Amino acid sequence: MFLFQDVMVDWYQNFKRDLPWRNTRNPYKIWLSEIILQQTRVDQGLPYYEKFISHYPTVFELANADEQEILNDWQGLGYYSRARNLHKTAKEIVALYNGVFPDNYQDLLKLTGIGPYTAAAISSFAFDEVKAVVDGNVYRVLSRFYDIEEAIDSTTGKKNFDKLANELIDSTQPATYNQAIMEFGALQCVPVNPNCEICPLRMQCLSFKNKTIALRPVKTKKTKTTLRYFVYEIKVNKSNKFILEKREGKGIWQGLYQFPLKEFVSQVEKDHYIENLKSDFVSKEYKHILSHQRILATFVLGKMEHSDLNANQIEVRIEDFSDFPVPRLMDKFWEENYAVLMN
Ligand code: SF4
Repeated sequence: MFLFQDVMVDWYQNFKRDLPWRNTRNPYKIWLSEIILQQTRVDQGLPYYEKFISHYPTVFELANADEQEILNDWQGLGYYSRARNLHKTAKEIVALYNGVFPDNYQDLLKLTGIGPYTAAAISSFAFDEVKAVVDGNVYRVLSRFYDIEEAIDSTTGKKNFDKLANELIDSTQPATYNQAIMEFGALQCVPVNPNCEICPLRMQCLSFKNKTIALRPVKTKKTKTTLRYFVYEIKVNKSNKFILEKREGKGIWQGLYQFPLKEFVSQVEKDHYIENLKSDFVSKEYKHILSHQRILATFVLGKMEHSDLNANQIEVRIEDFSDFPVPRLMDKFWEENYAVLMN
């Protein structure tokens, strides 16, 4: 007899990847892996996971660390708010729970920075709670297997998918089943051109039967992308120190450092500004894509004025540059142009 749950678990036992966070019941390690893997590929996230486990072996080391140190370790992974929230939540677990993670979904949800997905992952993987973990992979598998037309990003859609996932969960082995369906979505029922010919669900899969695979899952909202025009001015003084400023406020890259930045509302305004600077060095234009923003950034060598620094600015020795957490965009520019600029 066909049982969806058994097929998932059998497939998982045969094809799962050997990943370090799968060999532990430690809620701290599971939590770390889940936060690192949000919006990040496994191969990209793996070295960060290992770095964090080695620098902060328990929630206490993470809570007591300096935010700048954590941001430095996070550098290159993007979505820095995740690192700041990680720190905040670690402090909360130490302050309110003596460093012991709550052992159930409802109590985990009470923590700042832990949403339904992460709470379900920790409670099921670490404590075997019968709670379905519903990530993008699970949405895709379920919407295809049942050929569901309802949008996964609508309020009722989310509720209904969550209900279905919780009805399907194998209550005898929730942790393994949750891992199995997520892994199945990541490796077998992939977003584009899944290899259905070798799929163990093929005979029962309604999307396969109805030829709607490419249409599932359905999403309603289109992401609006904003274009932003940046000019970074690199200012180096006679003692080879340059100005870095710390980004403040609520926008992107909060708490990270950057060369003094000017932002323009259009490409024309930006080009005009660069032209007037008559700088000795103007970089190529760097395109940097974030989830809702596309940034067009140019780096120029600016003039060093003898004015006081703003409150958020500091002078930094060139050899100390790597001590400061910077956005990936700046890091990339620095890697490519360091030699030219230092001549
Ligand atoms: S048959 Fe294809 S679409 Fe259906 S579950 Fe398998 S891989 Fe996904």
